[in-house]
Order: sequence, then structure tokens, then C-alpha cells
Amino acid sequence: KEIIFKIRNLQTWFPITKGFMKKVVGHVKAVDDVSLDVYKGETLGIVGESGCGKSTFGKTVMMLEKPTGGQVMFNYDGEYKDITQFNKEEMFEFRKKVQMVFQDPYSALNPQKKIYSSFEEPLKTHGINSQEEREKMMQRVLKMVNIQPDYLLRYPHEFSGGQRQRLCIARALEVMPEVLICDEPVSALDVSIQAQVLNLMKEIQQELNLTYLFIAHDLSVVQYMSDRIMVMYLGKIVEVADSRALYEEPFHPYTKALLSAIPVADIHNKKQRQILEGEVPSPIHKPSGCAFRNRCPHCMDICKEQDPALRYHGKEGHMVACHLYDGKESGDSE
Ligand code: SF4
Ligand code: MG
Repeated sequence: KEIIFKIRNLQTWFPITKGFMKKVVGHVKAVDDVSLDVYKGETLGIVGESGCGKSTFGKTVMMLEKPTGGQVMFNYDGEYKDITQFNKEEMFEFRKKVQMVFQDPYSALNPQKKIYSSFEEPLKTHGINSQEEREKMMQRVLKMVNIQPDYLLRYPHEFSGGQRQRLCIARALEVMPEVLICDEPVSALDVSIQAQVLNLMKEIQQELNLTYLFIAHDLSVVQYMSDRIMVMYLGKIVEVADSRALYEEPFHPYTKALLSAIPVADIHNKKQRQILEGEVPSPIHKPSGCAFRNRCPHCMDICKEQDPALRYHGKEGHMVACHLYDGKESGDSE
């Protein structure tokens, strides 16, 4: 499997300042030492409660948020370049490769302007100077999302929510990216429309061999879309595994609790329900040791002192960060 992103020790901390002198009194560790490979053509689901750093992680991977540490290596025809070190021109070129699709389709479409102008702008920015050429490119992407070309002359409010999100996807595809980072792309849509948009996204992914980073809090949506899933808790990966392995045999107590909270009519789901109690602690006051320990039913002495490392356990690249599995690493480790 070809790796498209090699993410190493990625860190995005936001300073908390106090008073007139803006003295730094602490940090919000939104992304805290995340290392992971992303494979070309896969959908990597990213789950966790809100405030766990999913969106910041997505933005940092494409440098919409500047990391405070670590590397993000992107595959340029087999050669990995650290995009965190890019200069302005290199960054401008990189921007075409990774695009983002947001929850709110209005964010990418100016409500005052016809769709045409929202669609023309990124092409102009990236130097497509001929109008004929631009229109060809617009029509190509509109076709992919099943929207008629003459709809370009309409305004965003003339479309339904589902159509607007399809337009946003089309707009993201205009510059022919290799990766789409999708942050809750269907959570603002009616449930009846969600499947339609998700299926369209799957088709487009196949057709263009796109890689998706798919952030969502709805675990059934993530399961439907993802090949692999990473679970985040307070800025860190606590578990990552193939989608099926994660749902069938989750290891981390946080993952177990998240999964058992899904209302499923699943006869296999005889496992005891584990209720997720309490709230995510403020990232400013992270507990010592394991960040999940104040909510964990299995907390041990070591959990108070040592932050568990992410280690291989189980099959095929399944990784977990929890002391329950200490000394039980599988032969998979590198
Ligand atoms: Fe629970 Fe300890 Fe595992 Fe953290 S490391 S999830 S506190 S058992
Ligand atoms: Mg978010």
C-alpha cells in the first residue's frame, strides 16, 4: 500500500495568554504528538467527541492551521516532502492537492454571488486564464455531482442542502486534488439525504482515486465510509484500526464506550453496554498520565503516572494506547 501522508509527532498547541503583557500561561493541546501513515486511496475515518481535536487535526494536515511541532510528509511521486517547511510558492502549489469540504455548505459558497463566480474563483487563482477552459473544468465537476451546468447561474439559496453540499464537493474537485478532508460533510443534512451524498462521495473517490480524511461524530456514518478509523481523545490517537476490526473488537475503553453508545439494532451486539460518563476534561487541564483516566472504569495506578504510548496490538496494524495492553504487543510492531 502506498503512503500518501507520513505524519510524525504532529503538534498543534494554542497558547493561552493572560493580561496586558499577554503572558503565556498554558496551552490548549488540540493536536498532541500524533504520528500516523495515511494510505493513498483509503478513507480514514476520524472520530471522537467534540473538543478532541478532530477538526484541528484535519486543518493541520493541510496547513490551514500551522503546527507547532512535528512533520507532515506528502508523497510527490514517491518522494516525501515535509510540507511544514514549505515556502510560499511551494505551499501555493500544495494547496491544489488537498482540499477541504466543510459541514456548512454555505461556508464555501458566497450567498451574494451566483454559483458561477464561486466556481470560477479557484480556477482563476490557480492560473486557468481562458474562460473557455474554466467553463470546461466547471462542467466536468458538475457532471460528477449530477448537477446541470446551467445551474451555475443560480444563487446558493436556490438549492437544497444536499445540492449545496454536492456543489461544495464539486468546487473542491475543480483543482483536481488528491486528498479531500471532509469535516462532518453530511451532519447538517437530513438523514434521508445523507446516504445519497455519501454514496456520491464513494463513487467520486473510486473514479478519481481520491484519499479521504473523513471526520464525523456519527459513528454509523464513519463506519459506512471508512476503511480505517482513528479514535482521538484530547489531541491524541487512542486507537487506530481497520474499520471492521475496530467495530468488532475495539480495545480502548474510550472506543468501547463510544461504540456502545450507538443505538444499534444489532443482534451481535450482546456486549455489555459501557456508559460514557462525565465530560471531556478541558484540554488546558489535562489529567496526568492517561488523559481518559477520570472516565475510565479500568483505571489502574500506572494510569495516573504514565501516559500510555500507542502500540501495536491485535491484527493488521491495529494500535491502541492503553496500559491494559502493556506487554501484550503483537508481532506486528516495527
Ligand atoms: Fe483506562 Fe488506564 Fe487504559 Fe487509560 S490507560 S484507558 S485509564 S486502563
Ligand atoms: Mg469539529
